[in-house]
Amino acid sequence: MDNIIRDEEPPSLATAMLSTPSAISVVDLKPKAFPPATVQPIRVIHNRRRNRFRLSKASAEFLRRFYPQATADDWNDWRWQNRHRVRTLEDLERIVTLSEDERAAIVRHQGALPVGITPYYASLIDSENTSQGLRRTVIPVLSEYETSAGENEDPLGEDHHSPVPGLVHRYPDRVLLLVTNFCSVYCRYCTRARMVGSAGERSVKKSDIEAAFDYIRQHTEIRDVLISGGDPLSLDDEKLDYVLRNLRAIPHVEFIRIGSKQPVVQPMRITSELTRMLKRYHPLWMSLHFTHADELTPEVVAACGRLADAGIPLGSQTVLLKGVNDDVNTMTTLMHGLLKARVKPYYLYQCDPISGSAHFRTPVSTGVELIRAMRGHTTGYAIPTFVVDAPNGGGKIPIAPDYVQGYDDNGELLLKSYDGGVYRYPDSGARLPIAQASKQEEVISWEHL
Ligand code: SF4
Repeated sequence: MDNIIRDEEPPSLATAMLSTPSAISVVDLKPKAFPPATVQPIRVIHNRRRNRFRLSKASAEFLRRFYPQATADDWNDWRWQNRHRVRTLEDLERIVTLSEDERAAIVRHQGALPVGITPYYASLIDSENTSQGLRRTVIPVLSEYETSAGENEDPLGEDHHSPVPGLVHRYPDRVLLLVTNFCSVYCRYCTRARMVGSAGERSVKKSDIEAAFDYIRQHTEIRDVLISGGDPLSLDDEKLDYVLRNLRAIPHVEFIRIGSKQPVVQPMRITSELTRMLKRYHPLWMSLHFTHADELTPEVVAACGRLADAGIPLGSQTVLLKGVNDDVNTMTTLMHGLLKARVKPYYLYQCDPISGSAHFRTPVSTGVELIRAMRGHTTGYAIPTFVVDAPNGGGKIPIAPDYVQGYDDNGELLLKSYDGGVYRYPDSGARLPIAQASKQEEVISWEHL
């Protein structure tokens, strides 16, 4: 067991790869073969009061109703949130009125991508409305068991680009490092549904992590490491410090990113101890997984503020989901809310064709039309890049509305603006590889701009 990261429920120091005789000393955990890290391990002193969020009225009411023995300090403790996650049919039925479809799906479930919802996130779910966006993203339905044409378990072909377990090397200069299979909340459309929450929710071999570090050390072309999972921020501070410290000790790793939904589903995870530790590893960026503006509670906005105050640039990742966020108002409201929370909208993803996800997937044209509806109508910073992650390892391919109309007979470029007007631009030199404009449209000349 001592060579395995095995976080049970909840993740704990006790059985982890990085666990030590002392709860806070990680000095002995540094693999002997590793070059010396330039940053000393952290010493964590938890301060529950300093990390408290003010309980919203809704949270306080939810806490009183469903966890009457717990205190506000418990609620604000991310470990308490983990220990009290909603995981069973019985747990869920205490909190929401399940439909027959939801109930049958939960009963039928086996293996990876179990039900897992923090009490905090459960407090945001509509207990009666089965079509509420947030509810649909975390409570399974029977459609999950229907595999449609083109769907499979590993649509991005990550397993075929994995030189060592837990490391995906798909692009020339960057890698994806999967440090855990655990998430405190499981999204029903997860691209890694095949692995998250499996094997006691998290099981990563120490030897795999070491092999990943070794691989990165040996490949000097790798300048960017994205730490993901599962959710890396579900690791406790000591384990995360260990990963970051070892990566930062590799001279050619210029840039480290963390992908996480933790600030959204468990904002109390963003403690002062965590941000103090993270600040030691700049340049460190974060991609936060948001789905809907309902997630932007005062607690989540405060958590994003704590990360931003620690100097961490924040970008968002959002999966386009049918009936959840696929209309202009919902998407624009989310993007505006992200800007106010100091998060730059980064990627809007077409929902990957994982098995059983057809009920979430929109046509690609929906994403394009959403971008078209936002571009020019709102702040440019609010507009994410819409991408399709191409099946079988093709990588992210941006798809944008086509604003280029072609060239006119005088060689001027015809561009369509956000409001439908067509403008001439006196382009010169090499032409864009597009067809000649087939007909003259009413255009607005460059001189008139
Ligand atoms: S948080 Fe990310 S890794 Fe975890 S279930 Fe959701 S999409 Fe998957």
